[in-house]
Amino acid sequence: MSVKDILGKRNVLSFEVFPPRTDAGMEKLCGAGGVMEKLYGLNPDYISCTYGAGGTNVGKNLEVLEKIASDGKTVPVTHFTCIGNTKDGIRRQLNAYLDRGINHMLALRGDLPAGWTGTGGDLHYASELVEFVRREFADRFTVAVAGSPEGHIQCSSIEEDIAFLKQKQDMGADYIMTQLCWDMDQFRRWLDAIRAAGIHLPVDIGIMPILDQKATINMALSRNGCVMPRALCEIISRYWIFPDPFTNATEKGQPSDPMAEQKKADFRKAGIEYTIRQIEEYLSCGIDGIHLYALNKYEDVAYIAKEAGLLDRDREKLTV
Ligand code: FAD
Repeated sequence: MSVKDILGKRNVLSFEVFPPRTDAGMEKLCGAGGVMEKLYGLNPDYISCTYGAGGTNVGKNLEVLEKIASDGKTVPVTHFTCIGNTKDGIRRQLNAYLDRGINHMLALRGDLPAGWTGTGGDLHYASELVEFVRREFADRFTVAVAGSPEGHIQCSSIEEDIAFLKQKQDMGADYIMTQLCWDMDQFRRWLDAIRAAGIHLPVDIGIMPILDQKATINMALSRNGCVMPRALCEIISRYWIFPDPFTNATEKGQPSDPMAEQKKADFRKAGIEYTIRQIEEYLSCGIDGIHLYALNKYEDVAYIAKEAGLLDRDREKLTV
Protein backbone atom coordinates (compact mmCIF):
# COMPACT_ATOMS: atom_id res chain seq x y z
CA MET A 1 0.00 0.00 0.00
CA SER A 2 1.35 3.46 -0.83
CA VAL A 3 1.93 6.10 1.84
CA LYS A 4 -0.56 8.28 -0.05
CA ASP A 5 -3.26 5.63 0.49
CA ILE A 6 -2.40 5.25 4.17
CA LEU A 7 -2.55 9.03 4.62
CA GLY A 8 -6.05 8.89 3.19
CA LYS A 9 -7.07 6.64 6.10
CA ARG A 10 -5.14 7.78 9.17
CA ASN A 11 -2.05 9.51 10.55
CA VAL A 12 1.33 8.02 9.68
CA LEU A 13 4.45 7.43 11.75
CA SER A 14 7.79 7.36 9.94
CA PHE A 15 11.51 7.56 10.59
CA GLU A 16 14.40 9.13 8.73
CA VAL A 17 17.88 7.64 8.60
CA PHE A 18 21.04 8.74 6.80
CA PRO A 19 23.52 6.60 4.83
CA PRO A 20 26.43 5.77 7.17
CA ARG A 21 29.89 6.74 5.92
CA THR A 22 31.72 3.71 7.30
CA ASP A 23 31.27 -0.06 7.09
CA ALA A 24 30.93 -0.17 10.87
CA GLY A 25 28.15 2.42 10.71
CA MET A 26 26.42 0.45 7.96
CA GLU A 27 26.62 -2.73 10.01
CA LYS A 28 25.18 -0.95 13.06
CA LEU A 29 22.27 0.40 11.00
CA CYS A 30 21.56 -2.44 8.57
CA GLY A 31 23.24 -5.52 10.08
CA ALA A 32 21.37 -8.40 11.72
CA GLY A 33 19.64 -7.13 14.87
CA GLY A 34 20.74 -3.57 14.02
CA VAL A 35 18.94 -0.24 14.38
CA MET A 36 16.82 -0.73 11.25
CA GLU A 37 15.40 -4.03 12.42
CA LYS A 38 14.63 -2.54 15.82
CA LEU A 39 12.87 0.41 14.15
CA TYR A 40 10.62 -2.04 12.24
CA GLY A 41 9.42 -3.20 15.65
CA LEU A 42 7.84 0.25 16.17
CA ASN A 43 5.62 -0.42 13.15
CA PRO A 44 6.49 2.64 11.04
CA ASP A 45 4.51 3.32 7.87
CA TYR A 46 7.73 4.23 6.08
CA ILE A 47 11.42 4.80 6.62
CA SER A 48 13.15 7.42 4.49
CA CYS A 49 16.85 7.73 3.72
CA THR A 50 18.59 11.02 2.96
CA TYR A 51 20.47 11.72 -0.27
CA GLY A 52 23.67 13.80 -0.24
CA ALA A 53 23.45 16.92 -2.38
CA GLY A 54 25.43 16.15 -5.52
CA GLY A 55 24.81 12.43 -5.05
CA THR A 56 28.01 11.90 -3.06
CA ASN A 57 26.49 9.07 -1.03
CA VAL A 58 24.22 7.56 -3.66
CA GLY A 59 25.70 4.06 -3.30
CA LYS A 60 25.11 3.94 0.46
CA ASN A 61 21.67 5.54 0.10
CA LEU A 62 20.70 2.75 -2.31
CA GLU A 63 22.20 0.09 -0.04
CA VAL A 64 20.11 1.27 2.93
CA LEU A 65 16.92 1.49 0.85
CA GLU A 66 17.50 -1.93 -0.75
CA LYS A 67 17.71 -3.41 2.73
CA ILE A 68 14.35 -1.86 3.69
CA ALA A 69 12.77 -2.99 0.41
CA SER A 70 14.03 -6.56 0.70
CA ASP A 71 13.05 -6.89 4.38
CA GLY A 72 9.48 -6.00 3.38
CA LYS A 73 8.51 -4.68 6.83
CA THR A 74 7.79 -1.09 5.81
CA VAL A 75 7.86 1.24 2.79
CA PRO A 76 11.30 2.58 1.71
CA VAL A 77 11.31 6.26 0.72
CA THR A 78 14.34 7.85 -0.90
CA HIS A 79 15.14 11.54 -0.68
CA PHE A 80 16.31 12.83 -4.07
CA THR A 81 17.73 16.20 -5.14
CA CYS A 82 18.33 18.20 -8.35
CA ILE A 83 21.89 19.16 -7.35
CA GLY A 84 24.32 18.35 -10.16
CA ASN A 85 21.85 15.96 -11.81
CA THR A 86 21.11 15.94 -15.53
CA LYS A 87 17.76 14.69 -16.80
CA ASP A 88 19.46 11.53 -18.09
CA GLY A 89 21.10 10.97 -14.73
CA ILE A 90 17.80 11.45 -12.90
CA ARG A 91 16.05 9.04 -15.25
CA ARG A 92 18.78 6.44 -14.72
CA GLN A 93 18.82 6.78 -10.94
CA LEU A 94 15.05 6.70 -10.60
CA ASN A 95 14.89 3.58 -12.76
CA ALA A 96 17.49 1.99 -10.50
CA TYR A 97 15.24 2.68 -7.49
CA LEU A 98 12.20 1.21 -9.27
CA ASP A 99 14.19 -1.89 -10.26
CA ARG A 100 14.82 -2.46 -6.56
CA GLY A 101 11.20 -1.98 -5.49
CA ILE A 102 11.67 1.58 -4.23
CA ASN A 103 8.76 3.62 -5.57
CA HIS A 104 8.44 6.42 -3.01
CA MET A 105 10.54 9.59 -3.08
CA LEU A 106 10.90 12.98 -1.41
CA ALA A 107 11.52 15.31 -4.38
CA LEU A 108 13.85 18.14 -3.34
CA ARG A 109 15.91 20.87 -4.90
CA GLY A 110 18.66 20.09 -2.41
CA ASP A 111 20.84 22.38 -0.35
CA LEU A 112 23.22 24.30 -2.59
CA PRO A 113 26.86 23.42 -1.83
CA ALA A 114 28.91 26.36 -0.49
CA GLY A 115 29.63 28.94 -3.20
CA TRP A 116 27.03 27.57 -5.65
CA THR A 117 24.30 29.90 -6.89
CA GLY A 118 22.23 27.21 -8.63
CA THR A 119 21.77 23.47 -8.74
CA GLY A 120 24.40 22.89 -11.46
CA GLY A 121 21.96 20.43 -13.02
CA ASP A 122 19.17 20.43 -15.61
CA LEU A 123 16.42 21.13 -13.06
CA HIS A 124 16.40 24.18 -10.82
CA TYR A 125 13.57 23.73 -8.35
CA ALA A 126 11.76 20.88 -6.67
CA SER A 127 8.59 21.72 -8.65
CA GLU A 128 10.52 20.99 -11.88
CA LEU A 129 11.61 17.64 -10.43
CA VAL A 130 8.01 16.72 -9.56
CA GLU A 131 6.92 17.71 -13.07
CA PHE A 132 9.75 15.64 -14.60
CA VAL A 133 8.90 12.58 -12.48
CA ARG A 134 5.22 12.74 -13.43
CA ARG A 135 6.04 13.21 -17.12
CA GLU A 136 8.61 10.39 -17.25
CA PHE A 137 7.22 7.95 -14.70
CA ALA A 138 3.51 8.87 -14.45
CA ASP A 139 2.19 7.44 -11.16
CA ARG A 140 4.91 4.87 -10.61
CA PHE A 141 6.29 6.99 -7.76
CA THR A 142 4.52 8.33 -4.70
CA VAL A 143 6.05 11.80 -4.40
CA ALA A 144 6.50 13.82 -1.21
CA VAL A 145 7.77 17.41 -1.26
CA ALA A 146 9.30 19.68 1.37
CA GLY A 147 7.33 22.45 3.08
CA SER A 148 8.92 25.15 5.25
CA PRO A 149 6.57 26.48 7.95
CA GLU A 150 8.91 29.41 8.64
CA GLY A 151 9.51 29.99 4.92
CA HIS A 152 12.57 28.50 3.20
CA ILE A 153 15.69 30.37 4.28
CA GLN A 154 16.25 31.72 0.73
CA CYS A 155 12.67 32.72 -0.04
CA SER A 156 11.84 36.37 -0.61
CA SER A 157 8.55 36.12 1.29
CA ILE A 158 6.48 33.44 2.97
CA GLU A 159 3.61 34.17 0.54
CA GLU A 160 5.90 33.50 -2.42
CA ASP A 161 7.25 30.34 -0.77
CA ILE A 162 3.68 29.07 -0.30
CA ALA A 163 2.93 29.86 -3.97
CA PHE A 164 5.92 27.66 -4.94
CA LEU A 165 4.64 24.92 -2.62
CA LYS A 166 1.31 25.13 -4.44
CA GLN A 167 3.22 24.66 -7.72
CA LYS A 168 4.59 21.38 -6.34
CA GLN A 169 1.03 20.26 -5.59
CA ASP A 170 -0.09 21.34 -9.07
CA MET A 171 2.75 19.34 -10.64
CA GLY A 172 1.48 16.21 -8.91
CA ALA A 173 3.02 15.90 -5.43
CA ASP A 174 1.20 13.53 -3.06
CA TYR A 175 2.07 14.88 0.39
CA ILE A 176 4.22 17.41 2.25
CA MET A 177 7.06 16.65 4.66
CA THR A 178 7.93 19.69 6.75
CA GLN A 179 11.20 21.31 7.60
CA LEU A 180 12.15 21.60 11.25
CA CYS A 181 9.93 24.15 13.04
CA TRP A 182 9.90 24.71 16.79
CA ASP A 183 7.81 27.87 16.60
CA MET A 184 4.31 26.47 17.03
CA ASP A 185 2.50 29.80 16.56
CA GLN A 186 4.26 30.19 13.22
CA PHE A 187 3.39 26.60 12.32
CA ARG A 188 -0.33 27.21 12.97
CA ARG A 189 -0.23 30.43 10.89
CA TRP A 190 1.51 28.56 8.04
CA LEU A 191 -0.98 25.66 8.14
CA ASP A 192 -3.88 28.11 7.90
CA ALA A 193 -2.09 30.01 5.11
CA ILE A 194 -1.38 26.97 2.95
CA ARG A 195 -4.99 25.77 3.29
CA ALA A 196 -6.22 29.27 2.38
CA ALA A 197 -3.91 29.13 -0.67
CA GLY A 198 -5.63 25.96 -1.89
CA ILE A 199 -2.99 23.46 -0.76
CA HIS A 200 -4.90 20.39 0.35
CA LEU A 201 -2.03 17.87 0.54
CA PRO A 202 -1.53 15.90 3.79
CA VAL A 203 1.16 17.41 6.05
CA ASP A 204 3.68 15.05 7.64
CA ILE A 205 5.69 16.82 10.36
CA GLY A 206 9.49 16.52 10.50
CA ILE A 207 10.73 16.28 14.11
CA MET A 208 14.36 16.24 15.15
CA PRO A 209 14.78 14.69 18.60
CA ILE A 210 16.68 17.16 20.78
CA LEU A 211 19.48 15.04 22.18
CA ASP A 212 22.66 16.99 21.76
CA GLN A 213 23.46 20.68 22.18
CA LYS A 214 25.83 20.97 19.21
CA ALA A 215 23.58 19.08 16.81
CA THR A 216 20.54 21.14 17.85
CA ILE A 217 22.30 24.46 17.30
CA ASN A 218 23.87 23.23 14.04
CA MET A 219 20.62 21.92 12.62
CA ALA A 220 18.76 25.11 13.46
CA LEU A 221 21.31 27.57 12.20
CA SER A 222 23.65 26.04 9.63
CA ARG A 223 21.05 25.58 6.89
CA ASN A 224 17.60 26.39 8.11
CA GLY A 225 17.65 29.55 10.21
CA CYS A 226 14.95 28.20 12.54
CA VAL A 227 13.51 30.33 15.31
CA MET A 228 14.29 28.88 18.73
CA PRO A 229 11.53 29.40 21.28
CA ARG A 230 12.51 30.78 24.66
CA ALA A 231 11.90 27.42 26.38
CA LEU A 232 14.41 25.69 24.10
CA CYS A 233 16.95 28.50 24.50
CA GLU A 234 16.60 28.10 28.27
CA ILE A 235 17.48 24.40 28.07
CA ILE A 236 20.52 25.17 25.90
CA SER A 237 21.60 27.92 28.27
CA ARG A 238 20.99 25.90 31.46
CA TYR A 239 23.30 23.09 30.32
CA TRP A 240 25.80 25.19 28.37
CA ILE A 241 29.23 23.57 28.18
CA PHE A 242 31.94 26.18 28.76
CA PRO A 243 33.72 27.75 26.99
CA ASP A 244 31.25 26.66 24.29
CA PRO A 245 29.94 23.30 23.08
CA PHE A 246 31.91 23.50 19.82
CA THR A 247 35.38 24.12 21.18
CA ASN A 248 37.78 21.40 22.11
CA ALA A 249 38.80 23.29 25.24
CA THR A 250 41.97 21.37 25.95
CA GLU A 251 43.32 21.97 22.42
CA LYS A 252 42.83 25.70 22.98
CA GLY A 253 44.64 25.52 26.30
CA GLN A 254 41.50 26.36 28.24
CA PRO A 255 40.19 24.36 31.17
CA SER A 256 37.46 21.89 30.19
CA ASP A 257 34.08 22.32 31.79
CA PRO A 258 34.28 19.88 34.73
CA MET A 259 30.52 19.33 34.48
CA ALA A 260 30.54 18.61 30.73
CA GLU A 261 29.45 14.96 30.90
CA GLN A 262 26.72 15.62 33.46
CA LYS A 263 25.48 18.58 31.43
CA LYS A 264 25.32 16.49 28.23
CA ALA A 265 23.22 13.88 30.03
CA ASP A 266 20.94 16.50 31.61
CA PHE A 267 20.55 18.29 28.27
CA ARG A 268 19.54 15.03 26.59
CA LYS A 269 16.91 14.32 29.27
CA ALA A 270 15.45 17.84 29.03
CA GLY A 271 15.61 17.71 25.21
CA ILE A 272 13.70 14.44 25.08
CA GLU A 273 10.95 15.88 27.30
CA TYR A 274 10.84 18.97 25.07
CA THR A 275 10.53 16.81 21.94
CA ILE A 276 7.67 14.78 23.42
CA ARG A 277 5.74 17.94 24.35
CA GLN A 278 6.34 19.33 20.86
CA ILE A 279 4.93 16.20 19.20
CA GLU A 280 1.85 16.37 21.44
CA GLU A 281 1.32 19.97 20.40
CA TYR A 282 1.67 19.10 16.72
CA LEU A 283 -0.83 16.25 17.07
CA SER A 284 -3.36 18.71 18.48
CA CYS A 285 -3.04 20.83 15.30
CA GLY A 286 -4.76 18.28 13.06
CA ILE A 287 -1.67 17.19 11.15
CA ASP A 288 -1.36 13.97 9.15
CA GLY A 289 1.80 12.33 10.41
CA ILE A 290 4.96 12.52 12.46
CA HIS A 291 8.30 11.93 10.73
CA LEU A 292 11.01 11.44 13.36
CA TYR A 293 14.63 11.94 12.38
CA ALA A 294 15.94 8.72 13.90
CA LEU A 295 19.57 9.90 13.53
CA ASN A 296 20.46 6.20 13.07
CA LYS A 297 19.66 5.61 16.76
CA TYR A 298 17.02 3.46 18.37
CA GLU A 299 16.62 3.79 22.16
CA ASP A 300 15.90 7.52 22.46
CA VAL A 301 13.73 7.52 19.35
CA ALA A 302 11.68 4.56 20.60
CA TYR A 303 11.25 6.22 24.00
CA ILE A 304 10.06 9.47 22.40
CA ALA A 305 7.64 7.66 20.06
CA LYS A 306 6.18 5.65 22.96
CA GLU A 307 5.87 8.52 25.42
CA ALA A 308 4.32 10.80 22.77
CA GLY A 309 1.66 8.14 22.18
CA LEU A 310 2.74 7.52 18.59
CA LEU A 311 2.75 3.75 18.96
CA ASP A 312 -0.87 3.36 19.99
CA ARG A 313 -2.78 6.01 18.06
CA ASP A 314 -5.16 3.85 16.05
CA ARG A 315 -2.26 2.55 14.01
CA GLU A 316 -3.34 -0.95 13.13
CA LYS A 317 -0.86 -2.47 10.67
CA LEU A 318 -1.91 -2.07 7.07
CA THR A 319 -0.47 -4.38 4.45
CA VAL A 320 2.60 -2.89 2.76
P1 FAD B 1 12.35 24.29 -3.59
O1 FAD B 1 10.94 23.95 -3.31
O2 FAD B 1 12.82 24.19 -5.00
O3 FAD B 1 12.61 25.76 -3.03
C1 FAD B 1 13.93 26.27 -2.91
C2 FAD B 1 13.89 27.80 -2.84
O4 FAD B 1 13.56 28.34 -4.12
C3 FAD B 1 12.85 28.37 -1.89
O5 FAD B 1 13.36 29.52 -1.32
C4 FAD B 1 11.65 28.68 -2.78
O6 FAD B 1 10.87 29.72 -2.26
C5 FAD B 1 12.34 29.06 -4.09
N1 FAD B 1 11.61 28.67 -5.30
C6 FAD B 1 10.93 27.53 -5.53
N2 FAD B 1 10.44 27.50 -6.78
C7 FAD B 1 10.83 28.66 -7.38
C8 FAD B 1 10.67 29.22 -8.68
N3 FAD B 1 9.97 28.59 -9.63
N4 FAD B 1 11.24 30.42 -8.95
C9 FAD B 1 11.95 31.09 -8.00
N5 FAD B 1 12.13 30.62 -6.74
C10 FAD B 1 11.60 29.40 -6.44
N6 FAD B 1 18.59 18.16 1.31
C11 FAD B 1 19.47 17.27 0.78
O7 FAD B 1 20.42 17.69 0.11
N7 FAD B 1 19.34 15.92 0.99
C12 FAD B 1 18.32 15.40 1.72
O8 FAD B 1 18.21 14.19 1.89
C13 FAD B 1 17.36 16.31 2.30
N8 FAD B 1 16.32 15.86 3.02
C14 FAD B 1 15.35 16.74 3.46
C15 FAD B 1 14.23 16.23 4.14
C16 FAD B 1 13.20 17.09 4.53
C17 FAD B 1 11.98 16.53 5.24
C18 FAD B 1 13.30 18.49 4.27
C19 FAD B 1 12.21 19.43 4.67
C20 FAD B 1 14.43 19.00 3.63
C21 FAD B 1 15.46 18.13 3.22
N9 FAD B 1 16.60 18.60 2.55
C22 FAD B 1 17.54 17.71 2.05
C23 FAD B 1 16.85 20.04 2.44
C24 FAD B 1 16.35 20.67 1.15
O9 FAD B 1 17.02 20.11 0.05
C25 FAD B 1 16.63 22.16 1.28
O10 FAD B 1 15.77 22.76 2.19
C26 FAD B 1 16.71 22.94 -0.02
O11 FAD B 1 17.43 24.15 0.25
C27 FAD B 1 15.35 23.33 -0.61
O12 FAD B 1 14.72 22.24 -1.10
P2 FAD B 1 13.19 22.35 -1.58
O13 FAD B 1 12.86 21.05 -2.17
O14 FAD B 1 12.34 22.89 -0.50
O15 FAD B 1 13.37 23.45 -2.72
